[in-house]
Amino acid sequence: MKDFSQTEEQKLFRNSVRSFVDREVIPTAQELDEKGEFPRELFQRCAVNGYFGLRYPEAVGGMDADFFTYCIMMEELARGSLSLGAVVAMQTLMGTDLVFRFGTDDHRQRLIEPALRGEKIGTIAMTEPDFGSDLGGITTRATPTENGWAITGQKMWITSATMADFFTVAAKTDPEAGFKGIDFFLVERGMPGVSVGRKINKLGVRASETSELILDNVQIPSANLLGKQGTGFKNLGEILCQIRVMTGALALGLGQAALDSAIKYSNERQQFGKPIAEFQAVSHKIAEMGTQLEAADALVCRAARDIDAGRRDVKLASMAKLFATETANFIADECTRIYGSYGFAMEYDAQRYYRDARFLLYGGGTSEILRTNIAREMGVPANRKK
Ligand SMILES: Cc1cc2nc3c(=O)[nH]c(=O)nc-3n(C[C@H](O)[C@H](O)[C@H](O)COP(=O)(O)OP(=O)(O)OC[C@H]3O[C@@H](n4cnc5c(N)ncnc54)[C@H](O)[C@@H]3O)c2cc1C
Repeated sequence: MKDFSQTEEQKLFRNSVRSFVDREVIPTAQELDEKGEFPRELFQRCAVNGYFGLRYPEAVGGMDADFFTYCIMMEELARGSLSLGAVVAMQTLMGTDLVFRFGTDDHRQRLIEPALRGEKIGTIAMTEPDFGSDLGGITTRATPTENGWAITGQKMWITSATMADFFTVAAKTDPEAGFKGIDFFLVERGMPGVSVGRKINKLGVRASETSELILDNVQIPSANLLGKQGTGFKNLGEILCQIRVMTGALALGLGQAALDSAIKYSNERQQFGKPIAEFQAVSHKIAEMGTQLEAADALVCRAARDIDAGRRDVKLASMAKLFATETANFIADECTRIYGSYGFAMEYDAQRYYRDARFLLYGGGTSEILRTNIAREMGVPANRKK
């Protein structure tokens, strides 16, 4: 997020997050990854720093910052640890936004305000074992009861579910109505029928715990339907651009960390009597990594500014996520090559960047889905858009 139009306030904010990350995140990132456990202490430190409320209004204890500033924070956190970035992304956007916007005053006071202080944890549960990209196919069912709804289904890949106090759950209210038959519900831990299933042993972002969630005839009051019935998909769509651009910002942070690491290593590592950085094959890799990262940065900055201007440009947000996340994967790959065999050793950071970068490719739309969206927005195939 290097765009030249940053305000003094944004620059100061970046410096403060950066020094927090340099001081407290980077020194522990490797150990967190090895332990593979939710980063409790850093989570609390982020809460104390006010990060969770950054993009929320002051009325609920937030800071009312613009989206660009939020992306600066996410980029910096991901530079230190993408696991921490994933946890904070869930707490500040996907896991709290729909409850904040469509919950009751009681939900905001009891769940959102404490969540922004780090006292409660929220997450979103859309994906199922058999339905990921195909959200319209989910089989979790919400059926009306006398006082509300009964929810039954199984969710998969749910970030922070092991720790979460509340879940924003996607369920079908009308299986015949397509996307208009999907709604989101607030489900709280401790409600009879809610259980967290097995924790998934993952390749990357290992300190961001991910698990199954089982909902067995969970009875919830009608006030826990988030938004008017039939508008769940539309309401999700309102933050989808933010989710994509924010993921682009996470990718910039990881890409920068891998690039910095590769530059340092290539200047230190000697072969044939000189630093490997002096071999053109290596220096050109660094040049290409830097160029790609700058291009990704420009695209993410533009997409973030676009959101701050109140626009919802699906094509631009999809391009930003696609390009930045693929770039982060390219840079992490090149970084491990520059490290040679040491890129294969668990004691160096290079392997963590390489593993963590994969996480960026899934949530908010896979690269394949994003390309399809972008093409559709560009009128290809033209007959799909009526
Ligand atoms: C670490 C991690 C944390 C996550 N956290 C959460 C969470 O908190 N909450 C949540 O709800 N979900 C979460 N997810 C799930 C994530 O959002 C899904 O993995 C994602 O939506 C992709 O779904 P899938 O993995 O089932 O892949 P699938 O949809 O099965 O796709 C498999 C492959 O087929 C391709 N494909 C599918 N459909 C098409 C198509 N129409 N055109 C072209 N190609 C296609 C995909 O691009 C992909 O390459 C998480 C995932 C991970 C890895």
